[in-house]
Amino acid sequence: MEILPLTPTRPAPALSGGRPALPPQHLADLDLAGRQAVMAGLGQPTYRAKQVSSHYFGRLVRDPAAMTDLPAATRDPITQRLLPTLLTPVRENTCDGGATRKALWRLHDGALVESVLMGYPDRVTVCVSSQAGCGMACPFCATGQAGLTRNLSTAEIVDQVVYLAAVAASGAVSGAPRRLSHVVFMGMGEPLANYSRVIAAVRRLCAPPPEGLGLSQRHLTVSTVGLVPAIRRLAGEDLSVTLALSLHAPDDDLRDELVPVNQRWKVAEVLDAAWEYAGRTGRRVSVEYAMIRDVNDQPWRADLLGRLLAGRMAHVNLIPLNPTPGSRWDASPKPVEREFVRRLRAAGVAATVRDTRGREIDGACGQLAAAEVAS
Ligand code: SAH
Repeated sequence: MEILPLTPTRPAPALSGGRPALPPQHLADLDLAGRQAVMAGLGQPTYRAKQVSSHYFGRLVRDPAAMTDLPAATRDPITQRLLPTLLTPVRENTCDGGATRKALWRLHDGALVESVLMGYPDRVTVCVSSQAGCGMACPFCATGQAGLTRNLSTAEIVDQVVYLAAVAASGAVSGAPRRLSHVVFMGMGEPLANYSRVIAAVRRLCAPPPEGLGLSQRHLTVSTVGLVPAIRRLAGEDLSVTLALSLHAPDDDLRDELVPVNQRWKVAEVLDAAWEYAGRTGRRVSVEYAMIRDVNDQPWRADLLGRLLAGRMAHVNLIPLNPTPGSRWDASPKPVEREFVRRLRAAGVAATVRDTRGREIDGACGQLAAAEVAS
């Protein structure tokens, strides 16, 4: 699926040479049969596909030099065809006493993306980017300000997860299990605007090793601004991932401004698509709502949201706004936030306030990459 034209659009950054190039193909772009076909093309026995896949997905080894059971003569061609370097670390920061780690990567064409690893007592979550930049232009989001650079390939998405799964496996995340369990598509980009690559990444992350990472579909969350046709298409994929819908306003007047794609698909339409997703998958939809002081946090908006969601398979995730540099907006005061939650619950709607992991390392929403570009 291609990026949908929006009104108003922000101009995409100027790119020399036309369409920005995806990286070379990597084994994580392919299913096992595809990897076997590549091996056959290299004149290698097909079992090498499983061998290399077991290193990458089973043991989280990304460096071909560490795959010591590959005969030296075959390592170079296999590396070139199936294990090109996709992500070069630019910076890794930790905070929250070592429980949160943010990684900034440079891609083969110089584009920057980031991922966050978050440890909790009962689980380890990776937040991945699905695009370099984003074309959705939400005015409170740091990534939205710079426009879209390009889609990430399936393997660029998967490789973020495999890299950070290895970090977790090394015991580097304090107070958390070593085994990565959860992935959220809440980093840079609009996942449903890079539909086929994101779905392939989901399938690879959930395929049992050595084909994939063996995560549970129920432990994956795909977050969207609300691209209605793509939500409906996702509902038909026979996947049981959690859908997160970035609503941020219950009324079209305000949502047209906060989430510009609302000018194309209105609140009622996007909620209809969300209920179709919930109905077909049996999964509760996570409604994301950034609490922005004096913008979307009024009691009447809580009541309106409560009426829209009452009796539906939904859970509201309130996110204290993480103010972006130069923004005129701020987070709602805590008493306002508490009143918002109280009103939602009074309407019979489940609501929780998301923790604010990684704030001090610009852990949320494109800020580290933005800082790197600015320097
Ligand atoms: N494009 C997707 C996923 C990326 S952002 C989406 O919009 O859902 C993940 C979540 O962070 C979204 O709900 C997004 O609206 C929210 N977000 C972005 N910038 C934020 C900020 N400055 N403070 C709080 N939440 C923010």
